[in-house]
Amino acid sequence: MNAPPTLQAKALAALAAAMPEGTLLTADRELERYSIDWTGDHYGRPLAVARPRSVEEVSLLMRHCSTEGLHVVPQGGLTGLVGAAVASHPAGEVVVSLERLNKVRSVNPIDFAMIVEAGCILEDAKKQAETADCILPITFGAQGSCRIGGNVATNAGGFNVLRYGMTRDLVLGLEVVLADGRVWNGLKTLRKDNRGYDLKQIFIGSEGTLGVITAAALKIFPKPTQVETALVGVASVEKAMELYARARRECSDLLTAFELILRGGIEIAINSPGRLSDPLSQPYPVYVLIEASAGGRVDLRSLLDGFLADADDIVLDGVVASSRAQGDRLWLLREMMVEWQGRGGRYLRTDVSVPISGLSAFVTDALAALKQAHPEALPVTYGHVGDGNIHLNVVPPEHMNPEDVEALFHATEKVIFDVIDRHGGSISAEHGIGKVKQQAFLERADPVALDLAGRIKDALDPLHIMSEGRILAARGVGGHG
Ligand SMILES: Cc1cc2nc3c(=O)[nH]c(=O)nc-3n(C[C@H](O)[C@H](O)[C@H](O)COP(=O)(O)OP(=O)(O)OC[C@H]3O[C@@H](n4cnc5c(N)ncnc54)[C@H](O)[C@@H]3O)c2cc1C
Repeated sequence: MNAPPTLQAKALAALAAAMPEGTLLTADRELERYSIDWTGDHYGRPLAVARPRSVEEVSLLMRHCSTEGLHVVPQGGLTGLVGAAVASHPAGEVVVSLERLNKVRSVNPIDFAMIVEAGCILEDAKKQAETADCILPITFGAQGSCRIGGNVATNAGGFNVLRYGMTRDLVLGLEVVLADGRVWNGLKTLRKDNRGYDLKQIFIGSEGTLGVITAAALKIFPKPTQVETALVGVASVEKAMELYARARRECSDLLTAFELILRGGIEIAINSPGRLSDPLSQPYPVYVLIEASAGGRVDLRSLLDGFLADADDIVLDGVVASSRAQGDRLWLLREMMVEWQGRGGRYLRTDVSVPISGLSAFVTDALAALKQAHPEALPVTYGHVGDGNIHLNVVPPEHMNPEDVEALFHATEKVIFDVIDRHGGSISAEHGIGKVKQQAFLERADPVALDLAGRIKDALDPLHIMSEGRILAARGVGGHG
């Protein structure tokens, strides 16, 4: 149900009157910062931005939006990579920014759980966990900007998934405001609870389409007292995956990260403005960044040194950081590569996964297919390969005109996704579907799964006011609803 323009203006005025003063921003200059995401590729001016300070205010807001027929889109830190958090519905959308609902409600080192409001920046939540000598393990490049609600709504992954799992594995409970304004309080820190359906799972990874997450109960873990980081050079992706298989068995369960970077990525980092030095004495085709961590009476350094020495048939060269600062410098290579891969311009991001056993064959096939179809495109390959997750990105040639760049992105994505299909993989390992991956998702979706997803959407958001047109096609477009 879309309100016609005059009715929409009335609906907005009614909403402004209903909300406490200062909750609704409508002035053009105030809306700007909520209109563009981190990628800069997605711009959408909202009708208004609501900044509730409490769950009650979110509830009031949603109640009014549903009675007035106003579309809404929840927004966290705008670091999502699939264009889902900015306004995009043709009828206009009210952005619900969670930025003022940002408290850590509790940290409990006995339950190993914390309760965090959705607008809390991930890095702030991590710092709070540390005050109780614990860690909140979700870790990735955007942690200084992304917010807990966004992490839950996208089921974020990151560097530590190998050891601690995706965000889904860390959520013990949720508090959610439904499309009609009702509050579902599922904020439990119980480790075991088999009372009927596990409703929180429906909201995790739902990308704002089913409800506004207002708080999450999250698992935290004892803070490791030892962290060891190594960067090694190997001959091929196949060798890197052989090393991974051994590391899983020989480093006990202490492995926290296993990141693959091809030589091209290291060159991007060392030629970036960060001017990092080449980390090993000579270039190698493939690099692996390994991290292990432990508490208690484990000699982690000996474990890692011993493992790498035994793997001298695979490892051609390597460095084990002698201090945290040196470990951080090794990670900086990874971060600068991500930041500079597009040379400051646009590039195609993919975020695919395959079974771990098939990762090396996938990379070989995908790079060969890309080279054959589009030799002009520069692939940048890296990923959380311990989870079977690869980012195979494509940088266009310099000075290519924008229409040709767009066509190249479309064509190269199709090449990569076709190879993914052949390898039984997923076109989205971490970032979600949003708008960017929607067409490719719908083309491949199982009809029964799509029907079930549509029924869940209809049940929780019968008026289709929440993030309409993300993941599933908008009602009346492309079959659903
Ligand atoms: C440099 C960089 C590195 C990244 N690395 C990784 C990585 O390693 N792994 C990974 O998984 N992701 C990664 N990402 C993607 C991104 O950071 C995550 O998807 C993050 O979880 C998004 O959080 P956000 O607060 O920025 O959400 P936003 O971008 O604001 O929103 C993302 C989605 O969540 C919905 N949403 C936001 N808040 C709520 C809420 N309270 N209730 C309901 N829905 C909500 C939005 O509507 C939207 O659909 C990276 C991004 C960048 C920029």
